[in-house]
Amino acid sequence: MLRIIVHGGAGNIKSEEVPIRVDVCKKACSTGFSVLRNGKSSIDAVVEAVKVLEDHPLFDAGRGSYLNEEGNVEMDAGIMDGSTLNMGAVSAVTSVKSPVELARFVMEKSEHNFLTSRGAEAFAKEIGMQFEPLQYFLTERTVKLYRKTRFGDTVGAVALDEAGKIAVAVSTGGVPFKHVGRVGDSPLIGSGFYANDSFGAIATGIGEDIMRLVLSVRIGFYLEKMDLDKAVAQAIEDLNVINGKAGLIALDKEGDISFHYNTKGMFYAYMREDLKECVGGV
Ligand code: ASP
Repeated sequence: MLRIIVHGGAGNIKSEEVPIRVDVCKKACSTGFSVLRNGKSSIDAVVEAVKVLEDHPLFDAGRGSYLNEEGNVEMDAGIMDGSTLNMGAVSAVTSVKSPVELARFVMEKSEHNFLTSRGAEAFAKEIGMQFEPLQYFLTERTVKLYRKTRFGDTVGAVALDEAGKIAVAVSTGGVPFKHVGRVGDSPLIGSGFYANDSFGAIATGIGEDIMRLVLSVRIGFYLEKMDLDKAVAQAIEDLNVINGKAGLIALDKEGDISFHYNTKGMFYAYMREDLKECVGGV
C-alpha cells in the first residue's frame, strides 16, 4: 500500500497565489509518490517531496523563507522514521540549501537528534552539504512581507511505503519578522511532527499554539479510541481551548489519509494507488 500527503501551509490564503501553490503541492506529491513507486522508503519519499517545496520561492521553507527581524533567514526542519522512532531536527540554520536534508543527516549520520544554529551548519559542512548565500533565499515576496504578521507557508509531508513504514518531514522559515533565535513547533518532536508504526502527522500554523498542545502526537492518543479522521479533527478542535490556529495532515498504517485545519485554508495534495493523479486543493 502506497500513500503520501503533503501540505504547503495553513493560514491566510492569497487568492492570486492559489492555483500555482496547489500545482506545486501536486508536483511535490507526485515526486514523493514516484519515489514510493520505485520501491524506495517513506523517508526518501518525504524528503524528496519536501525538497520540491523548499526549492520553490512561494513557500516559507528553504528558498522563500520568511525573514526575521534582522532581515535574515533562520530555518527549522524535522524528520521522523515511524518504524524505528529515529528522528532528526535542526533549527536556526541560515545558509544550508535544504534544511530537511540536513535534518535527515542529523538523524542518520550524527550521534544526536537535534542540532541548532552554527553547530548544525558546522555539521552540514563536515558532511559536505550545499550552502547558499542570503540572496538565494530572499525573494521579492518575502522582502515585501517583512514586518507583516503572517504565517502559513510552511511545508511538510507524510508517507507510507510498501514495507508498511510511515515517515514524516517538515521544513519552515518560521514566521515573518520573528525575534532572532525564535524556534517554532516545526523542529519539535510531538509538536510539529510525529510518526510511529501506526500513524504519522505534520502540523502547520502558529508554532506557539501548536507546541502548547503538542499537536501532532495528540492524534496518537485519540487513535486509541477513534479512527484517524476523527482523531485529527479532535486535535484541531482542541486548539479552541487556547484560541489556537493550525492545520494537520496525517495518515495511518491502514492507508487512511486525513487533514483538518481551523485556519482560512490549507494547501494540500495526496495520492493513493487507486487515484490517477494527486488530488490537490486548499
Ligand atoms: N508552524 C510554523 C512556525 O510557527 C509556521 C507555519 O506553519 O507556517 O514556525
